[in-house]
Amino acid sequence: MAQSQKPLRIAVIGAGIVGAATAWELIKDGHAVTLIEPDEPGGPQAASYGNGAWISPASIIPMSMPGLWRKVPGYLLDPSGPLVLRWMALPSLAPWLWRFLAAGWTVQKVEHTARVLASILRDAPQRHADLAEEIGRLDLIHRTGLLYAYRDRRAFAEEGLAWRLRKDNGLRWRELEAEALRRREPDLSPDYRFGILVEDGAHCADPGAYVAAIVQAVCARGGVLVRARANGFVLMNSRLEAVATDRGQIACDRAVICSGIRSRALARAASDRVMLASERGYHGVIASPQAGPRCPVMPSDGRMANTPTAAGLRLAGQVELTHVDAEPDWRRVEILVQHALKTYPGLGPRERLKIERWMGHRPSTPDGRPVIGASSASPDIFHAFGHGHVGLASGPITGRIIADLVSGKDAPIDIRPFAISRFGALGCFWWTSLPSDGRRVPPE
Ligand SMILES: Cc1cc2nc3c(=O)[nH]c(=O)nc-3n(C[C@H](O)[C@H](O)[C@H](O)COP(=O)(O)OP(=O)(O)OC[C@H]3O[C@@H](n4cnc5c(N)ncnc54)[C@H](O)[C@@H]3O)c2cc1C
Repeated sequence: MAQSQKPLRIAVIGAGIVGAATAWELIKDGHAVTLIEPDEPGGPQAASYGNGAWISPASIIPMSMPGLWRKVPGYLLDPSGPLVLRWMALPSLAPWLWRFLAAGWTVQKVEHTARVLASILRDAPQRHADLAEEIGRLDLIHRTGLLYAYRDRRAFAEEGLAWRLRKDNGLRWRELEAEALRRREPDLSPDYRFGILVEDGAHCADPGAYVAAIVQAVCARGGVLVRARANGFVLMNSRLEAVATDRGQIACDRAVICSGIRSRALARAASDRVMLASERGYHGVIASPQAGPRCPVMPSDGRMANTPTAAGLRLAGQVELTHVDAEPDWRRVEILVQHALKTYPGLGPRERLKIERWMGHRPSTPDGRPVIGASSASPDIFHAFGHGHVGLASGPITGRIIADLVSGKDAPIDIRPFAISRFGALGCFWWTSLPSDGRRVPPE
């Protein structure tokens, strides 16, 4: 910390990857950090626990792409596809859905989103490697590359816009023909005859343990973890005095909202309205698999991550748009498992597989961009949430941006595209009930 700068008391609300990485950057800058988290840091309530574990500079393609609206009736009717929209949730989700479709209406719009996402994902593998090294857990970050598997070149060409956007944003990759693909991934079904290897990509062997390790490192450097749920802010003439929690007030000079899908209520308490929906996702982890990928694979026809992790082969994916507090639909894990059985024929038979199942909430804005920056209520309250599909990868840069803003420095990238003001007055008309936590069930 610069001599002239006074250390601040900073409350970080939520200990998923975003809160943990933010707390780490703040404590490195010399501030006094209190992490407020009602559950285990990196526990199954957090999206950070169960994600696909990809740290990918290629994840810059938004979910909403031109022509997506034509597929919406199919999403309502087909319960087995990778994206499902439940009828009952349609009325409450309609405003979010409308903005979501609008965000991908034209090629120019998705070009813009891809450019913005590239700014937070370009150096994600290096940022994670640095963070993991600083906390002494470099063993959790594997830089073995990420592989996209296609049936053939024609299937790859069908995703031409996505790969053009990646190329425009500086991504480099290697094309693998059938034989090279087989050499690299011998267990992959021969039905896949073309691959794209993103050599710069990385993955995390255990995202939940990684978050817990970051929090442990924060505490080892003097940070404090308070088991409480934040529910508001105490302000005096727009300056922050404390964060209110269910266990009393925590006095502080600055606060950062990093509460994933639950951030909307806290943003409201900071006078901001945000469109945030849960794109629910699922995982199944197959312990001690007999076959599987050597590096993380995304079979293009499954739209899911197949990631080797410490606990086994993690199959993560599915997008389910429904009420946040609806019961998990565990059939979605079975869809992932059935797809994996076809992708790696040596994996089966199904009856022998022990599968841990999990459902969690991607905290998603309709335009696919996180919300990072100061709140409307006070220059002392900051937003750092809404990372949707890319929160694991972009956690460390988010932490750095917030630490720089707190210290009154320029952020390392242009943060105007992440401002909460982009929701304008529209956010005011949107209200649904607050979400339940993520869920985990033990192996069958
Ligand atoms: C199936 C699936 C696959 C995914 N795959 C990937 C991937 O491969 N790569 C990638 O980069 N991203 C991926 N993601 C997205 C990524 O997991 C999320 O964007 C990221 O975890 C969000 O992190 P977070 O810290 O904002 O929220 P969370 O991890 O949800 O953490 C929020 C924390 O805040 C706490 N909290 C909530 N309310 C309060 C309160 N009032 N007071 C205090 N604390 C509170 C919660 O208990 C929780 O611990 C995936 C997500 C899913 C669901």
